Amino acid sequence: MSLPLLPDRDCGGCVECCRYIPLDLPELAKPTGQLCHYCVDGSGCAVHAIRPQTCRVWFCLWRAVELSEDWRPDHSGVIIRPDGVERGEITLYVVRPSEFLASEDFFVTVAQWIAEGIQIALSVPGPEGFYPVRSIITDWLRPAIEEGDMADFVERLLAALDKLHEGPFQPDGVTARYAVA
Ligand code: SF4
Ligand code: SF4
Repeated sequence: MSLPLLPDRDCGGCVECCRYIPLDLPELAKPTGQLCHYCVDGSGCAVHAIRPQTCRVWFCLWRAVELSEDWRPDHSGVIIRPDGVERGEITLYVVRPSEFLASEDFFVTVAQWIAEGIQIALSVPGPEGFYPVRSIITDWLRPAIEEGDMADFVERLLAALDKLHEGPFQPDGVTARYAVA
């Protein structure tokens, strides 16, 4: 699913989806966690004009939802995946630890989503070449949110991340193939 993008927002130097989302297309296949060989780290796609259709339509929700600049994935370490939005879920794909997870901005935003009835999933990457793991954590976070207890929220979030990092991770079976020409 792709939502309308915010008109005044671009990816800037973020390339996190080109690193952490697996692709298995005839013209381009790259394992999870491998920076696409067509990507210039910190800059963007070197084959932008002829990039695959999947790359043209896939955007994280930071490109579509009014969130602060701190939420930009390369700053926050969090890619908000769009899959699941149509069934009322938001997936926070935490690709690296960051202080942003302990910020008021993060707490208030997640609390607001839960208050609106949105289910929150947490996801973490495995080793390169393995699919991420994911789990719905709405009910786990809810007591901290209902109490407005940010310290407890962060504690619960970090505990959930630790649990997810245990896996098990399934191999994505993707063999790198770079044939965009
Ligand atoms: S993760 Fe989001 S902000 Fe970053 S490059 Fe991808 S679409 Fe752009
Ligand atoms: S082809 Fe371009 S947009 Fe697609 S994953 Fe590679 S660098 Fe990113």
